[in-house]
Amino acid sequence: MNENNENIGFIGLGKMGLPMAMNLLNSGYHVYGSDVNPASASELQKAGGKTGHFSNWVPAVQTIILMLPSSTIVNHVIEEILATYETMHSNQTERLTIIDMSSSYPHDTKTNYEKLKLRMIDFMDAPVSGGIQKARSASLTIMAGGEEEVFKKCKRLLHSLGKQVFHIGPLGSGHLLKALNNYLSATHLLSACEAVQLMERYGVQPEKGIEVFNHSTGRSGSTEYKFPSFILNERFDSGFSLELMKKDVEMAKRLFEDYGAETVLPRVVHQRFEEASLALESLADHTEIYRYVTSYLLKRGNSREENEEIVSGPNDIRSGI
Ligand code: NAD
Repeated sequence: MNENNENIGFIGLGKMGLPMAMNLLNSGYHVYGSDVNPASASELQKAGGKTGHFSNWVPAVQTIILMLPSSTIVNHVIEEILATYETMHSNQTERLTIIDMSSSYPHDTKTNYEKLKLRMIDFMDAPVSGGIQKARSASLTIMAGGEEEVFKKCKRLLHSLGKQVFHIGPLGSGHLLKALNNYLSATHLLSACEAVQLMERYGVQPEKGIEVFNHSTGRSGSTEYKFPSFILNERFDSGFSLELMKKDVEMAKRLFEDYGAETVLPRVVHQRFEEASLALESLADHTEIYRYVTSYLLKRGNSREENEEIVSGPNDIRSGI
């Protein structure tokens, strides 16, 4: 149990943020939550958290955690926090710390750091891996970037949310690793989707093929976890959206480009996720890329038209795939 009566602000109470904020409450922190969606905030309130627009509670907290969908939104929220900070008369003796646990773009993270430093606000990036199951069980993997002193200050808090907490290096390096991790994960997933569909056309049972991969060198998080849990049973309910995975792959692609790296793979993987996001409905889960792969790797016995019908359903929003 937390003995310091520390007040933590949490902005972004979505699929990941809400269970994380709940875990902070369970660890004895006082949690102040904020989300543009009132339903998420009311869940936190029911569990004992305080809610409301963050401009009302920023003066009361020592640390603010951000768990937001994109860098653009993170940048905007940080501007708003700074505007609040300009006007507030705080009794705080401790420096405010902001931890961006969203999957953000590392270059933006550095820009935000420069802005916050001018106001004597500490900042670190600490994105997560593990999905909603591990968010609920407080067993996320956390990859932090930033100054050693700031990491030390936040370590106990981070251990209330994750089992594996790594300090990677300078500010932005957590966000860099997160983008690269999800690029690897997306690449494994896409290639496994193609391999499974090819084996189906050949007449091999996907379950059998996946079992063989999992005892061989072709295994990955996708074959070991995503195929059995979300794809082969056609549940497609991992809780991590296709849009968010597309964003992460796009960030990785940009990072390779920014550093002038001569590689085509990030571009190809990103292109497939972009096509899938046009083909599938806007709230699609990222594991539904499997359904999109059907449209270009014909399902056995079906015509291309029949396969496109499987992907698009009645509301076809695709153009030219
Ligand atoms: P989500 O869309 O479920 O949640 C985001 C929340 O932010 C929503 O509740 C939304 O209403 C809120 N929000 C948006 N704009 C806001 C604003 N201006 N002010 C306050 N709240 C605002 O997304 P998620 O799946 O919880 O993902 C959050 C972050 O974590 C993303 O950066 C994502 O890439 C990353 N992530 C997600 C998973 C996963 O499995 N879902 C895993 C690892 C990392």
